Amino acid sequence: MADYLLAGGSVLTRDGLVEANVQVGNGTIEAIGADARSGEVIDCAGLIIGPGLVDLHAHLREPGQEWKEDIGSASRAAVAGGFTAILAMPNTAPPTDAGHLARYISDRGTEVGLCEIVPTGCITKSMEGQRLAHLDELSDAGVTVFTDDGASVADAGLLRRAMEYVAERGGLISQHAEDPGLADGGHMHEGTVSSWLGMRALPSEAETTIVARDLALAEMTGCRYHVAHVSAAATVGLIAAAKQNGLPVTAEVAPHHLFFTEEAVRTMNPVYKMYPPLRSEADAEAMRAALESGVIDAVATDHAPHAAHEKDVPFEEAPRGVIGLETAFAAVRTSTRLDPAAIFDRMSVRPARIAGLSRHGRIPATGVAANLAVVDMDEQWTPTKFESKSANSPFAGVRLTGRPKYTFFEGALVWRDQEAGQ
Ligand SMILES: [Zn+2]
Repeated sequence: MADYLLAGGSVLTRDGLVEANVQVGNGTIEAIGADARSGEVIDCAGLIIGPGLVDLHAHLREPGQEWKEDIGSASRAAVAGGFTAILAMPNTAPPTDAGHLARYISDRGTEVGLCEIVPTGCITKSMEGQRLAHLDELSDAGVTVFTDDGASVADAGLLRRAMEYVAERGGLISQHAEDPGLADGGHMHEGTVSSWLGMRALPSEAETTIVARDLALAEMTGCRYHVAHVSAAATVGLIAAAKQNGLPVTAEVAPHHLFFTEEAVRTMNPVYKMYPPLRSEADAEAMRAALESGVIDAVATDHAPHAAHEKDVPFEEAPRGVIGLETAFAAVRTSTRLDPAAIFDRMSVRPARIAGLSRHGRIPATGVAANLAVVDMDEQWTPTKFESKSANSPFAGVRLTGRPKYTFFEGALVWRDQEAGQ
């Protein structure tokens, strides 16, 4: 394996940002500082070297929907976005509800070899919300994060049993909080814009009622509980109170909920259709504030590729979801006041801890696995094309600040921004 000398950049260390060279060799950080002196020189002047980003929430579409994305294209999109580990949501076809399906996904990730692909498992069989999935098999296959993402587990008794099992194994339940009755087939946030458009809509309470119920179940079972893609200001209040009461609860927010609001839906462009939907300006401000204060622990992309022929239809008929791996860092940098250390905390350190990934989210130090993102905090750019097979991004054509330049996975240079110097 080649050696690299990351020269002239600032390294995020336990003592903050330090100007120092970084020696990468044999898959690890071999030295930081004066001892670093050999290998291919990567010019990091003006750049920051931090731990590779970790995404708790991505839809890779393999197996079953490879026209939208596959593990190869998703891996390329991930490393282009500075990610070295991503969690694969289990709503594949078939859904990842048994051990051999989880193994297939991690094996495909290893075969591609650009980043770590971490399978998650369904809570219920076929994600139908009726019976528990093969949680024991999934756990034996190494799965620690369980979710029916795309839908809530509506049956509280079933979720309680899943939580009891997962708590015993030290795992995590990640909930897509959306009460199906309150959501009632809504296409956007219920508020002033939906009234103006006369569009069927789902209220914030579709999210908050599920989170309130689940927090009670987390207290009852002692299970670690994670709220996927928080979108409503009221949900933040519930999470803050639960944390204060010592419950093992964590939460993530998607970049689009930091950046956009329901106002974008006035265009009726399906690129602004996702679940949970874009909410009010007050909600978006609450998301930014909660991420900055740490009540929301992590940014997760909810990367959800759809082909152009599927997405370019009337808003009400369009599938839910947008891509996000390649623009997440820039969206966070542009929309929040987080400093570099805090960005790496919310996009790498904390998500790695939540998912229990020991080789990722480690602050650079001698002997640590070389899973690194080298970023430019100040570069201005406009995303136009993507490594992903799909291009359903609300950030396409939007001027952003901050850009991943190089990504190292287990010591190998797996991404170099074409415009980066050399
Ligand atoms: Zn979801």
